Amino acid sequence: MKNIKGRPDIFIEPNIVIFSDGCWWHGCEKCYNRNKFNIRQLKSKIRDIFIIAKLIENDYKVLRFWEHDINNNFEEVLDEIIFAINERKIKDKIGV
Ligand SMILES: [Zn+2]
Repeated sequence: MKNIKGRPDIFIEPNIVIFSDGCWWHGCEKCYNRNKFNIRQLKSKIRDIFIIAKLIENDYKVLRFWEHDINNNFEEVLDEIIFAINERKIKDKIGV
């Protein structure tokens, strides 16, 4: 795999990067108490913002999925990935 900033979990040529964000590590507010401060989660959130901004700046299409969505709404996750692939194909056809 290409050496891509942030080491995405999945890379689809030419520019789609997919991250699976663990709910605890990335501070999911749906699964964990948002009032409980945790320095590791804060560091992850800051790192995520920095990495995603860099990837977008370098023309990557970034998809991020929460662990709870992968576990509970996998069809929606797949739909979003397929949509991004089709969008890329259309852009390639019209040369964008
Ligand atoms: Zn979650």
